[in-house]
Formats: sequence, structure tokens, C-alpha cells
Amino acid sequence: MDDTIVAIVTALGSVGIVRLSGSRSVDIAKQLVRTKASWESHRVLYGRVIEPGTGDFIDEVLVLFMASPRSYTTEDVVEFQCHGGMVVVQKILTLCLTLGARLANPGEFTLRAFLHGRIDLAQAESVRDIVGAQSFHGVQLALSGLQGKLSSPLKQLRSACLDILTEIEARIDFEDDLPPLSIETIRQKLSELREKARVFLATKDRGELIRSGLKVAIVGRPNVGKSSLLNAWSRTDRAIVTDIPGTTRDIVDSHLVVEGIPITVLDTAGIRETTDQVESMGMERSRLVAQQADLVLLVIDSSVGWTEEDQQIYDLIQTKPIVLVLNKIDLGCYENLPNHNFLAQVKTAASLQQGILDLEEAILHSIKAQKIKEQDLDFAINQRQAECLQRVVDSLTRVQESIDGHLPLDFWTIDLRDAIRSVGEITGEDVTESLLDQIFSRFCIGK
Ligand code: GDP
Repeated sequence: MDDTIVAIVTALGSVGIVRLSGSRSVDIAKQLVRTKASWESHRVLYGRVIEPGTGDFIDEVLVLFMASPRSYTTEDVVEFQCHGGMVVVQKILTLCLTLGARLANPGEFTLRAFLHGRIDLAQAESVRDIVGAQSFHGVQLALSGLQGKLSSPLKQLRSACLDILTEIEARIDFEDDLPPLSIETIRQKLSELREKARVFLATKDRGELIRSGLKVAIVGRPNVGKSSLLNAWSRTDRAIVTDIPGTTRDIVDSHLVVEGIPITVLDTAGIRETTDQVESMGMERSRLVAQQADLVLLVIDSSVGWTEEDQQIYDLIQTKPIVLVLNKIDLGCYENLPNHNFLAQVKTAASLQQGILDLEEAILHSIKAQKIKEQDLDFAINQRQAECLQRVVDSLTRVQESIDGHLPLDFWTIDLRDAIRSVGEITGEDVTESLLDQIFSRFCIGK
């Protein structure tokens, strides 16, 4: 880890940033930058980057030097703020490489911060989550993680398990010298710890929802008002809409944020029309798009009521959670609705922009009905952390089974150690190199 790494932190916009970290950072920077200012830590200095060898003037820059250990990585860090766009940043990057720096791997700055003990693994993952957040709520959640709101209760959990392990092991090693174990106390403590782990585990759904959001499909037969509904919804003040072209197909999904939850409304227009009679009814289209959704809005024309075609579409999507949207309510409302198990029914007049708030409320309500509840805890674990916590719960359950089954103490300790290791994998006290590779490879370069 002695080498000095470099990466383009950002090039978009009018300012670009190149960051160096490692013991040679200042040496490399001094060879590149001509400045009258002195290289004091935590001061911004103005200078000109001159290419060594040719003497070519590359750019005017502001340089920020952060001496070890008061930097993100705890190493000597130098950041060049230069003009944005790829040309200048790329040139400065290349010069740093020529002078002996190595191109940073994805997440390597954060990895170094972790390896030097500045942040733990859960906090490092929060850094990635801040960058990847799709809503302000997501950022807040990630910031809680960065402040250690997840790490500190987990560290307490781990140390409580370690205390129990020590007590049991002492009995294995010095059975005759110590008072007998209070099995009831241990059982009680383990059960409390397992309950805690379960509570933490339950934050996964909320975390997932806030991080990746909810995929919603709007389906229904032609002309019931699906596009009008999406248009009306996209135009509300409460929703932020961005059109991000899909990567796999040439489609455009709509992205909205409702009460901090990112919602992707899956594009149906991109799914091709066909001349086949059944498909042209929108059936195949509905089925395809509903398949990918977490929640389906089934739109019908309320002035016509429930038709045979609506029923056919319903049959195709009925395994999904469905909210029934009775659109065109301004034209009247037939009450011949079937007795199906809809999560909610909402009345809208999409072309008049009516009923959209009710629709959002129904969606948020349905999410809660699917047990994705707001919790008192202000952190939420991710998929990897959830897998570790599930192992904690399972291991602690097995310890209790060993106690109940009057198995020898060695059996208790095997599972207790597993539980301790699994908590440690979340905070980073027990990690292998391959696990670190796996986690940090999902970061972006320069972070
Ligand atoms: P889609 O094929 O399901 O996407 O339906 P569209 O959104 O294209 O709407 C079909 C027609 O119904 C259009 O002429 C819309 O203006 C009209 N429409 C949509 N919503 C309403 C509504 O709430 N009330 C009335 N009166 N007309 C609507």
C-alpha cells in the first residue's frame, strides 16, 4: 500500500478534480505545479501546471494539500482543481502517472480510509450509497450510516457476543476454578441479542426501497388513459421527473420521487405494437411490463366499468400487488367492479389532473401494507449486510438449540464464533481480502 494512487475525481462541468493519495503525493505535485505559495497543509494554493521535460503550460489550477493523517485516506492527499472537460484532467492524470503514481482502482481511496482505520466497512459502504442515492432521503440514510449509526449498535452486538464467548470458553479451560455457568442468564442474553439482530435485519426492506426505489407498471387496455395518467403524475409538483434512457432496450422509463422514495414508472410505449389481435389489446404488453414491476397500477375506464378485456389482463397479472385505478371518473362511474383482491382502489380523471395525490397515497399505503414500514431506527442495511445479519440470527438460534439440547460447551462456541464473525463482516473487523475486493469493486473510480 506504499504506492501513491491517482484518479480523476470529476471532469464533468466547468471544474475538474484530480486526486493523489500516498506518500509521494506532494513530491509529484511539486514537480508539476509552479506556485509562489508555500505548500502548507489544508490551504488552497494557486499555481500553474507545467509539463516537466517540455515546459508546456497545461492549466491554471488551485491545489489543495491535506497532510497525513488529516485527510480522507489518512495519507498525504493532493487535489488539483483544474478546468473541466476531459482534456485537461486527462493530461494532469497522465503527468501524475508519468511521475510514478498508479491509477487508483474503483473505491481505492475509500478502501485506504478503511484499511487505515479512519472509517469502518459499513461507513465505507455508506460513502458509496451517498454517491449512488436517487433521492434526498437516500442521502440522509447513507449519511446516518457514515456517522456510524449502523456501526455502533453492531459493534455493541459483537462485543456482547464476545463477552458471552469469553465466559463459556473460560469454563472450558478452567472448569474447576470458576463458578458454574448461569445457563439461564446466557440463554436470556442470547435471546436479547438475537432479537436485536432481527430488528436490524428488518431495516433491509426500507433500505432497499429508498436505495433502489419501487418499480411501478401502468397497465390496462388501450385508451383507458394510461399515458394521460403518467403525464398527469409527472407534472405534479411533488414529483421530480427525469428521463433516463434505458440501457438494455431503447426505452425511456420515468423517474419520480414520492416522499423520498424513488419510483420508476416502467415504460410501456417501448414495447412493440403487434398486429396480433390478442397482443394489440395490450395484453402481451401488460404482461411483459407487469412482470418486471413491484407494483401494478391496473387502469380501467370507469365510465365503461369492468370489461371482459380488463378481466383478461387481470388474469395475466394477478400474482402481482395491484392498485385499481378507475380513470375517467369525470365521465361517470359504473359500480360493476369484481371482487378481486386489490391493494387499493383510486378514482382519477387523468386528463383533468385529478386524483393524482390519492394515487400517490394509495401507492405509499400499499408499500406499507407490504410490510415495508417506517422504523424508529434511522439506518437501513443493504443486501450484503442483510445476508451477514441473517447468518447472525441463524447462528444465535443454533447456540440456543445447543443449550436446549444439553450439548457440550464446544458446540455452543462454534456457532457463537460464527455469529461474531458475521457481525464483523459488516463492520469490517472480520473480513477477507476477496470480500473487500468484492465490495470496493462496486465503487466508482476516484471515490
Ligand atoms: P392509453 O391508450 O391508455 O395510454 O390512453 P390515453 O392516455 O392515450 O387516453 C386515451 C383518451 O382518453 C385520450 O383522448 C385522453 O384524452 C382521454 N382521457 C384520458 N384520461 C381521461 C379522463 O380522466 N377523462 C376523460 N374524459 N378523458 C380522458
